[in-house]
Amino acid sequence: MTAVEVTHYPMRIGGQDVDTTMWREIIDPADESVVATVAMGTAAHIDEAVAAAKATFDAGVWSGKPPAERAAIMHRIAAAANDAIESLVELEMEANGATVRQATGFHVGYALSHFTYFADLAESYAWQRPAARTTFPALAQFTIQREPIGVVGAIAPWNFPLLLTLWKVGPALAAGNSVVVKPDEHTPLSILAFARIAEENGLPPGVLNIVPGEGRDAGARLASHPDVGKIAFTGSTEVGREIMRLASGSVKKITLELGGKGPSVVLDDADLDMAVDGVLYGCFVYSGQVCESGTRAIVPRSLYDEFVERLVERAKTIVVGPTRDWDTDMGPVIDAEQRDRILEYVAGAEAEGATIALGGKAVTGAGFEKGFWVEPTILTGVRNDMRIAQEEVFGPVLSIVAYDGDDEAVAIANDSPYGLAASVWSTDNERALAIADRIRAGSVWINDAHQINCQVPFGGYKQSGLGRELGPDALDEYTETKTVHLDLSGGRERKPYDILLSHAGD
Ligand code: NAD
Repeated sequence: MTAVEVTHYPMRIGGQDVDTTMWREIIDPADESVVATVAMGTAAHIDEAVAAAKATFDAGVWSGKPPAERAAIMHRIAAAANDAIESLVELEMEANGATVRQATGFHVGYALSHFTYFADLAESYAWQRPAARTTFPALAQFTIQREPIGVVGAIAPWNFPLLLTLWKVGPALAAGNSVVVKPDEHTPLSILAFARIAEENGLPPGVLNIVPGEGRDAGARLASHPDVGKIAFTGSTEVGREIMRLASGSVKKITLELGGKGPSVVLDDADLDMAVDGVLYGCFVYSGQVCESGTRAIVPRSLYDEFVERLVERAKTIVVGPTRDWDTDMGPVIDAEQRDRILEYVAGAEAEGATIALGGKAVTGAGFEKGFWVEPTILTGVRNDMRIAQEEVFGPVLSIVAYDGDDEAVAIANDSPYGLAASVWSTDNERALAIADRIRAGSVWINDAHQINCQVPFGGYKQSGLGRELGPDALDEYTETKTVHLDLSGGRERKPYDILLSHAGD
């Protein structure tokens, strides 16, 4: 198949398809086929999109609608997107190599149900609430109002393109903002399709604009544009730092969802059958390309050999294969660069003294001639100060670190620049909860992994991020707070203006 035979996707700006001579091939990581071409916007296209978004915001075509009306339109969009779920799943998985099981459930199923949650929030959110009624210096009533910020810029990564973009677009729209999305350059297809569905179902043109483009060009312009009031970013910690710097010029509000190096703390009273499966699930889902993955298993020295043996035997049953096969457990990684980077990390770990207990290589042989494949890899003898235990690999690589005693387990878990998520495995809830209290991470799951629920906040401690997405307060991050004071004193004579105007009668 050549590039000219596949569908070409223009940008979506101001309710119009906008094309350019610069375009990029979208590659299926499972077989390296070209699945689409997409127009690549530049800083100038971002300027156009921000202007379109600002015009809609200023005109009040969305920002001026009552929240219940916004909610009704968002529900209509979610229903229409649900009707198109099969094509959204296809667009999602062909660009990022997710397996069909994962793309259907996690990537698109969650994305649409979370969007529905934000539509509900538009109705239940406390847009206005009475606050203090004061009598000093004069009788007055305060009201606290939440109002949309204006233009929100959303910059997304490739790993869950639709889900992580809708975590930003959902609350931004629910709050009445207009939005410009800069998707990752690998994976713009599903959000381009979603924007079209949104416009066909009542979202005014120009409220949601999608500009695929390079991070350093289009992304950087969005993060620094003076008319953008807030930037919501998910991606690497390194780029997150750059976003902070770029946003500082116009003092934008920011939320950052960044990297992780999650600990899975196995206590010596854990149900080992569950812990073994849970630790594997925590690390190898989506070939480890998940920010909240548990990539460090922290295991009691007394159980180390037994745990590793059981883990390796169970991991051998993970079926790596074609993404469209419903029997496949694990698909490819995103591109050749990422595959090579993962393998370099494994080689580096070996050089530092770790042992490869399973995997450690690219998958080869029949069916794997094309695409970017890495074996599920388990490393033993890892010390927490090794690079493999400190840095985010973003691949199917699990490091097993030994500990003696709960205090050391907690110390190892916390010895990381990251603090996104952790898990604790134990049959004693009280003990596990006490450990959870001591772990410095935004989410701690006891006897489970990857438990992200739209009804509770998600985000990171330390260098894993800033602010929170999801949960009942998600709209806080997409609104300004205004305090309105209404004088109830009834006249000039009750006012304390003599503080200044004491000579008025002289
Ligand atoms: P990345 O940081 O390389 O890219 C993310 C986005 O930022 C892309 O759209 C990219 O084009 C853009 N970008 C790159 N440079 C930019 C710049 N200078 N200015 C503005 N935008 C720029 O991340 P990635 O490789 O796409 O995704 C993987 C990373 O994302 C991992 O570190 C992972 O942990 C993290 N992640 C975090 C979460 C979370 O919720 N905490 C979720 C998913 C992924």
